[in-house]
Amino acid sequence: MAGEPQPDCLFCKIVSGEIPATIVRETDTTVAFRDINPQAPTHVLVIPRLHYPDAASLGAAEPQVLADVLCEAGNVAADDKIDATGYRVVFNTGAGAGQTVFHAHAHVLGGRGLEWPPG
Ligand code: C5P
Repeated sequence: MAGEPQPDCLFCKIVSGEIPATIVRETDTTVAFRDINPQAPTHVLVIPRLHYPDAASLGAAEPQVLADVLCEAGNVAADDKIDATGYRVVFNTGAGAGQTVFHAHAHVLGGRGLEWPPG
């Protein structure tokens, strides 16, 4: 059923605690943890507890949960004190855009200068 945990999904396993992660925030609907391969001094992933393959499918099915993910991205930025200097929230969507884990996730990046456009 839509949104249910998928047995082969890495991020579902982080939600369940089966795979460890450095969790920085949790809500009823989201989990935020430090990226294992950080690309900036702050690089945190905010994921929904529900399994959807990308942000668009999450938003179509559960718009409030997508809003929760975005609110938590802001809370991560405030916690890490990067909100004043600026930060980036990225949803890579599709393999061609660099998505490698097909469970919706927001990258929260900051703590250094960020180029535009991204590579
Ligand atoms: O957007 P994309 O799908 O490429 O992002 C997946 C991210 O998940 C990567 O930045 C990768 O470093 C991270 N990751 C992680 N912990 C894992 C496996 C992947 O933080 N155990």
